[in-house]
Amino acid sequence: MTSNNDILFARAQKSTPGGVNSPVRAFRSVGGTPRFITRAEGPYFWDADDRRYIDYIGSWGPAIVGHAHPDVVKAVQDAAVRGLSFGAPTEGEIQMAELICQLVPSIEQVRLVSSGTEAAMSALRLARGATGRDKIIKFEGCYHGHADSLLVKAGSGLLTFGNPTSAGVPEDFAKHTLVLDYNNPQQLVDTFKEIGDQIACVIVEPVAGNMNLLPATPEFLQTMRRVCTQYGAVLIFDEVMSGFRVALGGAQSIYDIQPDLTVLGKVIGGGLPVAAFGGHPDLMQHLAPLGGVYQAGTLSGNPVTVAAGLATLKLIQAPGFYTSLTAQTTKLVTGFTEAARAANIAFSANSVGGMFGIYFAAEKPLSYTEMMKCDTAKFNTFFHAMLDADVYLAPSAFEAGFVSAQHSDDVINATIAAATAAFAKL
Ligand SMILES: *Cc1c(COP(=O)(O)O)cnc(C)c1O
Repeated sequence: MTSNNDILFARAQKSTPGGVNSPVRAFRSVGGTPRFITRAEGPYFWDADDRRYIDYIGSWGPAIVGHAHPDVVKAVQDAAVRGLSFGAPTEGEIQMAELICQLVPSIEQVRLVSSGTEAAMSALRLARGATGRDKIIKFEGCYHGHADSLLVKAGSGLLTFGNPTSAGVPEDFAKHTLVLDYNNPQQLVDTFKEIGDQIACVIVEPVAGNMNLLPATPEFLQTMRRVCTQYGAVLIFDEVMSGFRVALGGAQSIYDIQPDLTVLGKVIGGGLPVAAFGGHPDLMQHLAPLGGVYQAGTLSGNPVTVAAGLATLKLIQAPGFYTSLTAQTTKLVTGFTEAARAANIAFSANSVGGMFGIYFAAEKPLSYTEMMKCDTAKFNTFFHAMLDADVYLAPSAFEAGFVSAQHSDDVINATIAAATAAFAKL
C-alpha cells in the first residue's frame, strides 16, 4: 500500500538532496518514510494521508504555545498586510529587543538575526573580535548550528585541536576549535591552565538538547564561569533550545549564572525565523555600525517574523505558564518511566521545563560517552511503535523532545497508553 507520504518522499528526492531541507527530517537513523505535514493545531499535526499525530517535536522547540495559536496567527496576519519587509528599522524590533532584555537576566543589548546558526556564528565572531584571540572551546555533543568553526569534533589528545565533522570545513578553521568533555570541570580547568590566555570564548548548551537531553551539572557551569572570568575569555551560553523553553529566563535563570553572551532562537520566533544574540553593552558595542566586528542581515528583525515572536513571548509570560508546562512534561516522563518499568525494560527519562529526554539505559546518562551507550536499536523499535500509534517523537535516539502548553492531560494520557503498548512489544 503506497501512502501519499511515500509518493511525496519519492518526488522530493528528485528535486532536493535526500528529499528534505534539514537532515534529521529524513528518518535516516530510524528508517522508514518521513511524514509530510499538511497542517497543525495545538498539540497535533496531520500528514499527507490526513492522519493525526500527537507532536512531541513542536518544530524542534518553537511551538511552545501549541501549533497555530490564534494570537500568533493573528499577529502574523496583521503584520503581513502592513508589508513584508522594509530593510529599514521598525518599532517592533525595539519591542522585541526590550522584551528579551527584560526577560533574560544577562542580556542588556541584543541583535536580531534569522537563525540559530547565524546567531552562534556571530556571537563567536564578536567574542574573537572583542578579545583579539582566535581559539575557542566547545563541548562534544553540543550543537551550535553549522558554522565552520563549530562543526568540529575532538582531536586525539586533550590539547590537540579538533577535526572537522563535515566535509568542506578547512582544517585551518577546525584547528582553532578545542573540543572538551561535557560535564568535566577538571578538564576545563586543566585546559585553561595551559592555554587560557589564548581562548576567545567557551560556548556551551547549559542544558544540552542536541545529544538527547543532558543538563549540565551546576559545578560544570560554575567552573566555566570562574575560569572564563579569570582568563578574560567570553562565556557564551547557547540557549537557542533552552531559552524560554526550560524556564522564562532560560537555563541561566535556573543555574543562576550570568554568561557574557547568550544565543537565542527557536521559541523567540514562535515558528518563524527569528534568532538573537546579546549580552553586556561593553561587548555588544564591538558590533558594526559602532565597532569593528561586522554583522548584518537583509531580513534581520523582519516585521512579520518579529510579530510572531512578540505574540509568543507575550503568551509565555502568562502567570503559571512554566509551572504548568513543567508539570505536564514531568507527568509525561513519569508515565514513560513507569510503563517501561512494568515491562521490565532498561529505560530512564528526564525533563527540564518543557523539554524531555528518553533513554534506553537503566540510569540517566551524565556524559556524552554514557549517552552514546544508549540502546539505539530499542529506541528505533519504540519510535516506530509510537508512530504507528499516532505519536510523533523525534526521529533519532539523540534528540530531545518538546511539550507545548496545549498538551493537556488527555493528550499526555493517550501518549502514555501508546507507550505502554509499545514497551510491551519490545
Ligand atoms: C537549533 C539549534 C541551533 C541552530 O539553530 P538553527 O535555527 O537551526 O540554525 C544552534 N544551537 C542550538 C543549541 C540549537 O538547538
